[in-house]
Amino acid sequence: MSRVYNFSAGPSMLPESVLTRAAEEMLDYKGSGQSVMEMSHRSKVYEEIIFGARDLFKEILNVPDNYKILFLQGGASTQFAAIPLNLMNGSGKADYVLSGAFATKAYKEAQKYGDVKAVASSKDVNFSRIPELDKNEFRKDADYFYICQNNTIYGTRYTELPDTGDVPLVADVSSCFLSEPMDVSKYGVMYGGAQKNVAPAGLTVVIIRDDLIGNARPTTPAMLDYKLMADNDSMYNTPPCYSIYMCKLVLEWIKKLGGLEAVKARNEKKAALLYDYIDKSAMFSNPVLPKDRSMMNVTFVTDSEELNKKFIAEAAEAGFVNIKGHRSVGGMRASIYNAMPVEGVEKLVEFMADFEKKNS
Ligand SMILES: *Cc1c(COP(=O)(O)O)cnc(C)c1O
Repeated sequence: MSRVYNFSAGPSMLPESVLTRAAEEMLDYKGSGQSVMEMSHRSKVYEEIIFGARDLFKEILNVPDNYKILFLQGGASTQFAAIPLNLMNGSGKADYVLSGAFATKAYKEAQKYGDVKAVASSKDVNFSRIPELDKNEFRKDADYFYICQNNTIYGTRYTELPDTGDVPLVADVSSCFLSEPMDVSKYGVMYGGAQKNVAPAGLTVVIIRDDLIGNARPTTPAMLDYKLMADNDSMYNTPPCYSIYMCKLVLEWIKKLGGLEAVKARNEKKAALLYDYIDKSAMFSNPVLPKDRSMMNVTFVTDSEELNKKFIAEAAEAGFVNIKGHRSVGGMRASIYNAMPVEGVEKLVEFMADFEKKNS
């Protein structure tokens, strides 16, 4: 068996030990005589999985008691509508920071529901930095303030959260979920699609403060109503059963590694390896403002389109796959989520150095 190093932005790598465990339990989950894919979500054996996953999430991310953890479907993109439907219920206003493609999509979706203001944007520099925020632009009566915390496509992230006072902060954390400890109490809502760092696609995790639940607009579809989902332990309908099971295995893996502090140390090491090499290289460069560099998605380019193409092709040949950048940025992007081993990044850096030597 030979597995590649998959640098995809998502769906992305899962820890090998998690995949092995899932394979072992595939045909007969803990003596139940069935696969997790086949069992009733109302069964005792499945309840242990979904509640186990929820409790582990709470423990590992240190989620305060006044927050609910919801396991939903529809991907992060469905939350672009669910957020305004559930939260834009006071002044009907919301403030958004346009830091990239997903933040902009969320902003456009929210415009269908109310008075939505872009308080800052870094579009003029192709989202190569987190926009500078001017607090005078923030509206004190907004129902919430929205950010995308890690910008998957452009390789930027917030190192400091905006101070929004009493206005609840809503954050899309799809591509930085569980990558380091986070102070959940600073957020009204944090949410993410699972397929970057948490589990296979199909699961969206929403963590929401209790007082923000229960005021959805009357026209909110049942499936998007946080209260209905919270009241039914995320099982108003059939949940994404298998993805939740995989989420539990990933959380167990994180716990065994030593929790989010240990995960962060590993991630910092990987990111430093790559950025340090890029900064020293005469061939590769990273377009992001250094202080805003993402720990999860590392973008880089050469100054020639031809060389970029050659690099991507030869990297794939050598077992470093999905390293092509997003079409809106070009060049390359190495997504180095939790499951990417340090060894994978070390070998990529070796490969880059070798490529640079041969092509300059
Ligand atoms: C991938 C991604 C999305 C879109 O997720 P889907 O689950 O495909 O809807 C949204 N936001 C961020 C930050 C992402 O990385």
